[in-house]
Amino acid sequence: MDDECDYLLKAVMVGDSAVGKSNLLSRFARDEFRLDSRPTIGVEFAYRNVRVRDKLIKAQIWDTAGQERFRAITSSYYRGASGAMLVYDMTRRSTFESLTRWLEELRRFGDHDMVIVLIGNKSDLGEAREVAEEEGRGFAELEGIFFLETSALNNTNVEEAFLEMIHRIHKITS
Ligand code: GDP
Ligand code: MG
Repeated sequence: MDDECDYLLKAVMVGDSAVGKSNLLSRFARDEFRLDSRPTIGVEFAYRNVRVRDKLIKAQIWDTAGQERFRAITSSYYRGASGAMLVYDMTRRSTFESLTRWLEELRRFGDHDMVIVLIGNKSDLGEAREVAEEEGRGFAELEGIFFLETSALNNTNVEEAFLEMIHRIHKITS
């Protein structure tokens, strides 16, 4: 860890395959987007340093490695994670319907006070929408988690979503 960082936090990306997890992360960490889907092989993670008031936090964010089938992700993926980005694709209803099972996994393997942010990604594809924004918001309200629609392609709300998660984690741990 860099000497100048005050602490390291771990967060994980979860959600069905091809919802845009890797592109959200590369947008946040490196401001990059890829049109081709490139399933990650093995576990990957990215870092970004974020200043929250007087602290410099090193955010280490893990990306699922094309193992998005349920139970395929091992518990070590979740171990020590204080945050999770739970992602669905608003143009594919099935990815929204998987959320309950992903939440079960997060609550089984994650810390009990894990900060979860729900992301409805691909908001740039409005004409192909299969999940209303209100449905996403309603689900998040029921579960008591934060919600945003994003576009990794247009870089809409990506920064906001990650920073919200990091700020909430900081509030809990400080
Ligand atoms: P992952 O399997 O969840 O990691 O998904 P990827 O990040 O690999 O993205 C899957 C596909 O969706 C790729 O073809 C991406 O280019 C595309 N994609 C990801 N995010 C967006 C987005 O916000 N808008 C659009 N239109 N396509 C996206
Ligand atoms: Mg991926």
